[in-house]
Amino acid sequence: MAHMICIANQKGGVGKTTTAINLAAALAHAGKTTLLVDCDPQANATTGLGIDKSGLEKTLYHGLIGHADAEDIIVESGVPRLWLMPSRVELIGFEVEMLGDASRERLLQQLLSPCSQAYDYILLDCPPSLSLLTVNAMTAAHGVLIPLQSEFYALEGLGQLLQTVKRIKQRMNPSLKIEGILLTLFDKRTNLSGQVAEDAEKYFKDMVYDTRIPRAVRLAEAPSYGKPILSYDPASPGAVSYSALAREMLRKHNAPGAPGLQKTAS
Ligand code: ADP
Ligand code: MG
Repeated sequence: MAHMICIANQKGGVGKTTTAINLAAALAHAGKTTLLVDCDPQANATTGLGIDKSGLEKTLYHGLIGHADAEDIIVESGVPRLWLMPSRVELIGFEVEMLGDASRERLLQQLLSPCSQAYDYILLDCPPSLSLLTVNAMTAAHGVLIPLQSEFYALEGLGQLLQTVKRIKQRMNPSLKIEGILLTLFDKRTNLSGQVAEDAEKYFKDMVYDTRIPRAVRLAEAPSYGKPILSYDPASPGAVSYSALAREMLRKHNAPGAPGLQKTAS
């Protein structure tokens, strides 16, 4: 069964999409069949993998409203073993259109359930909000990976995010865990990055990944070439760090007595 991990933080610009694309590609590179689901109407993960949105017949939106099955939507990413469920701007309509639907929080879970056997990992790239799309992602997932930008205000708003995870765990998805906290946009030259890391480790302890993602210009450039960093510049610090993150995640999941995700959101 696939490990399903949603990458969430209601703040924009913290590295959710960069992490979704590059962790997915690194997992695929490590031999894991991986599906990246673009749950953001801004569709940055779709564009960042070089997919021409105008050429798509069906997107996540059609799947969520019941007009397509997962297999009709999923496309090749250009990276071996990595697949994409693309998104497009029409996904904005989903929330309002589904207002009266009694199972509106479970539509993504239902759409993805036939995919579970076909993939080792399914990563869900969330929009920068705690909207119905993020609720759907957390309801479908086994774990929530939270990117924290190593800058001032990084921990602000985190309480609200953790409260949302807790509520979804209580009401919708009892086995939901915190997969981990990932420090992104890390600059080891600044005291501020060190301070954020210290605060995060004080509060979240071993939930914080040892791997930190450096602020690296090549990571910001890669999406404009429609490629993950491992394809664009495999020797760059960004590529090395996302490969290390994938290895750390695989080690965690393969650890004896840890059939998946251990951390509980409480
Ligand atoms: P989110 O999905 O949380 O809104 P993104 O992953 O889109 O955040 O990142 C926001 C911006 O910062 C993008 O322009 C992206 O290219 C850039 N960025 C993200 N991570 C890094 C990094 N580690 N180094 C340099 N630029 C980054
Ligand atoms: Mg994003």
